[in-house]
Amino acid sequence: MIAVDKPECVGCEECLHVCPLDAIAMKNNKAEIIQNKCNQCERCIPICPVKAIKAVPIGVNNYRI
Ligand code: SF4
Ligand code: SF4
Repeated sequence: MIAVDKPECVGCEECLHVCPLDAIAMKNNKAEIIQNKCNQCERCIPICPVKAIKAVPIGVNNYRI
């Protein structure tokens, strides 16, 4: 799954602009992946200036999302 490490997100909204499926929303100035819309294309990962978006295994329970 694609996940935002929220403490790292600076709220720039760059990822929202590159997502072709409108699968990223802002919540309290932090990006959040809408999992049932995301198709794992990973376009949002390289665009993030602080590398807050990551591909993580499903079920990782210590990730800060
Ligand atoms: S992986 Fe692709 S579909 Fe999913 S949130 Fe990122 S840009 Fe959008
Ligand atoms: S591009 Fe990165 S820092 Fe900017 S809103 Fe998205 S996750 Fe946050």
